[in-house]
Amino acid sequence: MSMLAAAVAQLDAVAPRIRLDPGIHERLRRPQRSLIVSVPTAMDDGRLRVFTGYRVQHSLALGPTKGGIRYHPAVDLDDVSALAMLMTWKCALMGLPYGGAKGGVCCDPTAMSPGELERMTRRFTSEIIGMIGPDRDIPAPDIGTNEQVMAWMMDTYSMQRGITVPGVVTSKPPLLGGSLGRSEATGRGVSVAAAEAARAIGLPLEGARAVVQGFGNVGGVAARRLQEVGCRVVAVSDARGGLYHPEGLPLAALEEHVRAARWLEGCPGGAAVSNEDLLELPCEILVPAAVGGVITEKNADHVRARLIVEGANGPTTPAADAILGGRGVTVIPDILANAGGVIVSYFEWVQDLHFHFWDEAEVNRRLRDVMVGAYARVAGVARDAQVDLRTAALMVAVSRVAEAKALRGLYP
Ligand code: NAD
Repeated sequence: MSMLAAAVAQLDAVAPRIRLDPGIHERLRRPQRSLIVSVPTAMDDGRLRVFTGYRVQHSLALGPTKGGIRYHPAVDLDDVSALAMLMTWKCALMGLPYGGAKGGVCCDPTAMSPGELERMTRRFTSEIIGMIGPDRDIPAPDIGTNEQVMAWMMDTYSMQRGITVPGVVTSKPPLLGGSLGRSEATGRGVSVAAAEAARAIGLPLEGARAVVQGFGNVGGVAARRLQEVGCRVVAVSDARGGLYHPEGLPLAALEEHVRAARWLEGCPGGAAVSNEDLLELPCEILVPAAVGGVITEKNADHVRARLIVEGANGPTTPAADAILGGRGVTVIPDILANAGGVIVSYFEWVQDLHFHFWDEAEVNRRLRDVMVGAYARVAGVARDAQVDLRTAALMVAVSRVAEAKALRGLYP
């Protein structure tokens, strides 16, 4: 099943539970706007390569749209559309005044020089410039993009406008209007959600074994935060594979190794483990924080964790969800678990619009408040409606978007 088919199936499943109006249901099943662009880029060897880029806005019902930019060889319209839909639900669930969007370029950023990445980013930004803006659509980083890519996007937009517009993207370097705490926000939010769920299911965090797939912005920070709250992080991985040590990994040494050598490969401190085997390791908490579709009907029966915290977007297929639910595994869905990033992106946008900046403690305190509040709201609906956390989260989110659509009516 494609990622978009899975996202639509989730919406279809929740529609009868909230008595979703059929017309609004039909509108929400597809994106409001999609743009496909060619991104011609001069490579360092003098050749020209034409990459394909996308920006999809799923729903503008609640405000300007918000969502990341992904640079990855698997980026296509289907995945970007699915991710844009998830962003609509995530923003609505968190009570943010945004609709959902997503974008990306089909490329392998790990095989490109900084100059090639900059030229591709600037051309991509120019090609989608009519669609973005601080009051229209505000990109952020995702897989394969970072603060530097956001700085180039912000500069390209600003140069074309002739003024500096920090609020056009979030997760910029703090010197350019980025928020303190943004780079750690998603991983920090993952650990807050994990702690709330662990308490609810009676799982002590002290000594709990955690496995984290993906050692990037989300997985790296989530691993460190889980260790700080008492968990034993026994395995982590990146795209080339992972490391496992049943007594716990020396995370600081791993971070140091990745800073120097880019990949975990060859790092001492644990035994090598494949990304497939990592998902089936003995542990209490599993955090998929890399790509989508990794927990499927093929391996869901072998997952040994009691709690899955979805740092990645769409890591669990609907079929796997059903198997995990039947086995009593608690899954904190992506739109709740990894919302820390868009929450602090919202804080960054608010700070940019006011040219007034908060200290990091305030950002972290507000992030925690929003995450804890959202978790409690979702857990309450799950309890009352006797459904799992994903269904409950979607019930809250889709209802909010549907209500906004109903209030606004159908134009013309
Ligand atoms: P990143 O590029 O910083 O890190 C991704 C990590 O995953 C890297 O360690 C990479 O090597 C690894 N990886 C890539 N392909 C893999 C594969 N096939 N198997 C195993 N590992 C693989 O990206 P990120 O920002 O940490 O994003 C990770 C996930 O979290 C994505 O699904 C993204 O959509 C989601 N997410 C990110 C944010 C954010 O604020 N960055 C917010 C919400 C959700």
